[in-house]
Amino acid sequence: MVAKRGDGLDFEQVKANLLGRKAELETVLADLSSNIGEDPQGQDLGDQALSSSMESLRQSLQNTEQLEYRMLLEALQAMEDGSYGICIDCEGQISDKRLKHYPNAARCITCQESIEEQG
Ligand SMILES: [Zn+2]
Repeated sequence: MVAKRGDGLDFEQVKANLLGRKAELETVLADLSSNIGEDPQGQDLGDQALSSSMESLRQSLQNTEQLEYRMLLEALQAMEDGSYGICIDCEGQISDKRLKHYPNAARCITCQESIEEQG
């Protein structure tokens, strides 16, 4: 079942954008994880220190990408089951304007702001 909104948001276009971004993230994540822990040359202590700060940088980047990737998958899943564009908290419709800017958005602006205020 595909949600029909018919009020300005090009659903197929949003989905195409999400799929394109998903493919990008898959490439980035595959690249990040293939570089972790690989060291065919061996390291002295200085290299290890450098490599460990690189590692934490890479780790935090990877966390960010993975979070976005999970949100993407959830948005695509919501498209499949027809709940895309529905706020997961108040079940109101997320505005098209917001979805155009944040196609991953799972909450309407009101709920998102109340979460951000809390914390
Ligand atoms: Zn809401």
